Amino acid sequence: MTMDRRTVLGMGGAVAAGVLLAPGVQLIAAPPSNETSAAGSQRWAMLVDVNKCTPGCTACLDACRKENNVPLFGDPARDVHWIRKVEVQDKEHRRAPFTLPVLCNHCENPPCVHVCPTLASFIRKDGIVLIDEHRCIGCRYCMIACPYKARSLVYFSTRFPKDGNPRVPIRAKGVVEKCTFCVHRVDDGQLPACVETCQGSGQGAMIFGDINDPQSEIAQRVKTLRTETIRADLGLKPHVHYQGL
Ligand code: SF4
Ligand code: SF4
Repeated sequence: MTMDRRTVLGMGGAVAAGVLLAPGVQLIAAPPSNETSAAGSQRWAMLVDVNKCTPGCTACLDACRKENNVPLFGDPARDVHWIRKVEVQDKEHRRAPFTLPVLCNHCENPPCVHVCPTLASFIRKDGIVLIDEHRCIGCRYCMIACPYKARSLVYFSTRFPKDGNPRVPIRAKGVVEKCTFCVHRVDDGQLPACVETCQGSGQGAMIFGDINDPQSEIAQRVKTLRTETIRADLGLKPHVHYQGL
């Protein structure tokens, strides 16, 4: 997918009384967060240095798919993606096209949680937005509400892959799924698989950490460097930050 830089940053649109997120869904004010379990003042966040993201590299995408048993059905219209690579055109600054990974932003004010009629979508106190697949009825309100297109419906039944990761159950047909920041790894003190792989492959474009900890690398970099979030104008307080965008 190719996008214009001004569109990515939300520099073209006005934010007045309400924001049109998708056809039929308007965000009038940031919704109250529906926070549930997990640790106190931590807030997990990701930072991507787009200058280090190589256009042809798919290491993060491949790691995510393997770690989380994310299905491919061989139908581009139905395939599930937790993370995508997007090409950005910046003709305004006469800059060569560049790429960046786009995934769930684990928004602080997530409209996907706000619209969910069954409370299947929820946000933990540490900021990770999750879906309880046992409560999800597949209505797809959350998919319409998410301006980042971060969610996918599981259209078909899947089998557990032969070399699948036993730590992550596969999701049933008819529910919605998305990036969890590899919550099973984070709760064990590990990095999300995409970040670990990006760092291990020598790209070093992604870091992850507690943005509420002033000593953390991510907090330091967001504080001292020029970083952006995608469509910050929507007021959802996304927690995937980008450097060099
Ligand atoms: S990026 Fe989309 S799915 Fe993720 S928390 Fe924000 S609104 Fe919800
Ligand atoms: S598809 Fe599932 S998670 Fe999304 S709004 Fe409907 S019930 Fe909630």
